Amino acid sequence: MERQNDPTERQGQIRELTFKIARERIALHAAECDRSGNFPREAIRCLGEAGLPGLIISEAEGGAGEGRACFASVVQEIARACASTALIYTSHVVAAKAIEVGGSGLLKKKWLTAMMGCQSLGAFAVHEPDSGSNAGAITTRAIRDGDFYVVNGSKFFITSGGEADVYLVLVRTDPEKGPQGMSTLLIEKDTPGLSFGKPEDKMGLRSTSSREMFFSDCRVPVENLIGNEGEGLQIIGKSLVGWGFYGAAAISVGIAQAAVEASIRHAKERTIAGQPIGVHQAVQFMVSDMILGSESAEAYLHSSAAKADASPAAAALNGFKAKLFASEMAVEVTNKAIQVLGGHGYSREYRVERLFRDARGLTLHFKTSEWLRQDVAKAALGI
Ligand SMILES: Cc1cc2nc3c(=O)[nH]c(=O)nc-3n(C[C@H](O)[C@H](O)[C@H](O)COP(=O)(O)OP(=O)(O)OC[C@H]3O[C@@H](n4cnc5c(N)ncnc54)[C@H](O)[C@@H]3O)c2cc1C
Repeated sequence: MERQNDPTERQGQIRELTFKIARERIALHAAECDRSGNFPREAIRCLGEAGLPGLIISEAEGGAGEGRACFASVVQEIARACASTALIYTSHVVAAKAIEVGGSGLLKKKWLTAMMGCQSLGAFAVHEPDSGSNAGAITTRAIRDGDFYVVNGSKFFITSGGEADVYLVLVRTDPEKGPQGMSTLLIEKDTPGLSFGKPEDKMGLRSTSSREMFFSDCRVPVENLIGNEGEGLQIIGKSLVGWGFYGAAAISVGIAQAAVEASIRHAKERTIAGQPIGVHQAVQFMVSDMILGSESAEAYLHSSAAKADASPAAAALNGFKAKLFASEMAVEVTNKAIQVLGGHGYSREYRVERLFRDARGLTLHFKTSEWLRQDVAKAALGI
C-alpha cells in the first residue's frame, strides 16, 4: 500500500520501523491474544524497546517531539497488525502526555522515562458506570485530608485495567464547582484502597484487559495531582482529547487497511470453477468501495492531524471528526471484507472476522458516534 502521509524523511523512517516491528513481532501473536484474551505484554515490550512511546513527548523531556500526524502513522501501522496492541499503546502514550503537560518535575522524573521505554505502563480512567461519554457526569470523589486525597468511587471499562502500573484518573474534588471542580490524579496500581474487577469478556479488542476500578478510601499523595486542583478537564483536553482521538482514528484506519489487503489477496487467490472471484464485477465493486473508504479516512485523518499540529486550539474538533469518520468507515469496510471472503470470512480461521469485531469497538470508546455527531454539529451551529 502506498505511503502517502510522511511529510519528513524522519517520519517516514519512524513509520517504516513501526511497520517492521508490527509485521515481525506483533502480528504473529495477534490471533492468539484475541482467542485467549491474554494481554500482549511481548508486543508492548517491543514497542518500548524501539522507544515508540516517547514519540509525542517533547525533546526537552527526552521524547521525539513528533506531532499528531506522525503519531497517527505509527498507531495505524500497529493496528494493521493488532488493534488491541494499538489501543493499549494509544492509552499508554496519552497517559504519558498528561504527565508531561501537567505533572510536577518529581512525577516526570519518576514516570516519564520508564513509560517511554514501557518499563512502566500507563492508562486513562475517566468513564464511570453512570457517566457514559459525559466526563462532566463523573462522581468519583477525592477529598483532601492533609497531604493526601482520599478517593472513593469507581471507573468502568478501563483499557489496560489491572495491567498498567499507573492510572490517570479524573475525580471530583469540589462537587459545588461543576466542570471546574474536577481534577486529574495519578494513582499507582498498588495503592491501598484500589482494586480491579475481572476483565470484560468483550466482542473485540479482546486482549486490552478492560476492567472496572474500585476506589475505597484510597489514599493518594497530594503530589500526585496533575496540574492544579480544578484543572482535570483541561488536562484531559490536552492529552486524551487533543491526542488520543487521533490515535483512536488511526486504529480504525489501520484495521480498514488490513481488511482491504486481506480482501484483495483473497479475491486473487480464491478460485471458483477455475476463475478467481476477483474477475466478477460484484466483487470488484466491493473491493473498490473498500479502497475508497479506507484511503479517504486515512487522508482525512492525516489532514486533520496536520491542521491540529499547526493549530492546537483546533485539535479537539478535528480529532472528533477524524475519529467519527474513520471508526464508522472501518465498520463498513470490515463488514464488506467478510462478504468478499464469503463463508471463509465468517470463520475464525480467517482474519477478517476479528477485524470486524475490533472495528466495532472503536465506534463506542472515548466518545460514542452519537456524542461525536452532536459535538461536530454544535460546533458548526455555535451552540
Ligand atoms: C474498547 C473500549 C475501551 C475503552 N477504554 C476506556 C479507557 O481506557 N478509559 C475510560 O475512561 N473509558 C474507556 N472506555 C469507556 C468508554 O469511554 C465508554 O464506553 C463510552 O464513553 C460510552 O459510554 P457507555 O458505554 O456507558 O455508553 P452509554 O453512555 O450508556 O451510551 C449508550 C447509548 O446511548 C447513547 N447516548 C448516551 N447519552 C447520550 C446523549 N447525551 N446524547 C446522545 N446519545 C447518547 C450513546 O451514544 C450510546 O449509543 C472504553 C470503552 C470501550 C468500548
